[in-house]
Amino acid sequence: MKTTNLLIPTQKEAPNDAQIISHQLMIRAGLISKLASGLYSYLPMGLRVLKKVEAIIREEMNKSGAQEVLMPVAQPAELWQESGRWEQYGPELLRFNDRHNRKFCLGPTHEEVITHLAAQYIRSYKQLPMNFYQIQTKFRDEIRPRFGVMRSREFIMKDAYSFHLDQNSLQQTFDVMHQTYCNIFNRLGLDYRPVLADSGSIGGDNSVEFHVLADSGEDAICFSDRSDYAANIEKVAFSKQSRTCKAKASEEKVLTKKKTSIEDVAQFLNINQEQCVKTLIIKTSDGFTALALRGDHELNEIKVQNLVGEFEFASDDEIKSLNLKKGFIGVKALSVNLIVDYSASALCDFVCGADEWDYHLTGANWQGIEFNEADLRNAVEGDVSPDGKGKLLIKRGIEVGHIFQLGTKYSQAMKANVIGESGKAVTTTMGCYGIGVTRVIAASIEQNHDDRGIIFPESIAPFQVVIVPINYNKSTRVKDLADQLYQQCLDAGIEVLLDDRKERAGIMFADSELLGIPHRMVLSDTHADNGNVEYKARNNPDKVEVKFDEVLSFIQSKLG
Ligand code: ATP
Ligand code: MG
Repeated sequence: MKTTNLLIPTQKEAPNDAQIISHQLMIRAGLISKLASGLYSYLPMGLRVLKKVEAIIREEMNKSGAQEVLMPVAQPAELWQESGRWEQYGPELLRFNDRHNRKFCLGPTHEEVITHLAAQYIRSYKQLPMNFYQIQTKFRDEIRPRFGVMRSREFIMKDAYSFHLDQNSLQQTFDVMHQTYCNIFNRLGLDYRPVLADSGSIGGDNSVEFHVLADSGEDAICFSDRSDYAANIEKVAFSKQSRTCKAKASEEKVLTKKKTSIEDVAQFLNINQEQCVKTLIIKTSDGFTALALRGDHELNEIKVQNLVGEFEFASDDEIKSLNLKKGFIGVKALSVNLIVDYSASALCDFVCGADEWDYHLTGANWQGIEFNEADLRNAVEGDVSPDGKGKLLIKRGIEVGHIFQLGTKYSQAMKANVIGESGKAVTTTMGCYGIGVTRVIAASIEQNHDDRGIIFPESIAPFQVVIVPINYNKSTRVKDLADQLYQQCLDAGIEVLLDDRKERAGIMFADSELLGIPHRMVLSDTHADNGNVEYKARNNPDKVEVKFDEVLSFIQSKLG
């Protein structure tokens, strides 16, 4: 294609709301255009990239044996009422009424629709397993849409849902999808890791997220420095530690005055936060509970919820009503159940609140205190890896995919049964598998850019080759050579862009670099004199002169 036939509105400056590099570059390169918060149009260059990502995903999904379908974006409330999610799903679900006042929502995901389809059409165990996928628009009314298409309200997802007679069959498809995702992300040229994940509210236990490693990522991923262990920080499970220390100090009450935070107390007493114990009070359906953690550790609310059910933090008034002093709560004067995190219960001679205003205890120990122990915290860097091999490192990740085993959560609620081998009805077992198609583009740019712009991997670049002729509109020699090269590339099936604008060379170079086209050919009168073309790869600073008659085979040798 020719540049003058395309809308490529490149710009020098990024908009103010673009905080991360991929958002800035996608706008600056004219790939996308913002319509409203979390809503973006794909312009011609952006759409070319999107279509390439989709094609790779589609090819690999087809190879895996999944079948493609396309379900509606608008979904009737009845289906969501049947699954129980009409009530459960928060304000991310955009609900509306049609002209007959019937309730609908815009699909944030499609478990309900696909399970409804399966209930209608899959009758016999002989039809199983089946895996359906679609590449389609989702709508989630995100509380904070940000980072451009990374967290938008309308986005494209590849979602797949599989149906099985039993867990064994689900596990097989789950493993195939795991491998398929690896194939997809490899072809997309991403540096990614599959990590163990919490399945959150969607249900099911076996869940793996695929994260692209990038500093701008919103998730924290823990890796072992010596094994393959990798998990979302929230999912790292710790077991009970044996206490290696011995109580030596005698307990003392010290005046810490207004020091209520662990940080201030540790600094004031000149000790590490690791030597402190902090106590939090929560309210559950059974009343109040105290949770004790090491000072440097953070509470993992999912672990707590799994342990005690729904909970909230006690209010200041509730803490007062328990006769406790906020900021100085210890572990000795509690009238409520106490659960101590494994690494806090392994401490000796620690510092904790003295349950008196302005005082803390030093040299405190657990002897004589009644409590239960549990895993309550998030991992921190340097923790021993749960598989016992190596220490944990923490990196930031962007979640680009998620596969999970749903079990019978939806099939049971929505009666997706089949007639089993014995002639009796069996509830199908389900898996579901998502990829953030549009988020993948942003994630790729986070990993592939420099100060001049995007460096697209060939597999998803909008064009493979750009021809930049200098003085195309003035020099007939240059024009003839450029047109000839352009035609040769087209005939050879190469995706080529000819920059035929009446622009200065500097602008054409800058635009081609901003757009991240992998291979650039420059032609000018000087080159014409020498019978050469100048070649430069986007990811390599070196320029190479290539003889005009050899340029096509040269370029072909460069293409993957
Ligand atoms: P997140 O934790 O980032 O909100 P999620 O757990 O809600 O993601 P899933 O429901 O598993 O996401 O959806 C599957 C995939 O869709 C995600 O792995 C992600 O790549 C993509 N995705 C989810 N929400 C968005 C969004 N708001 N904008 C763009 N892509 C998204
Ligand atoms: Mg989400």
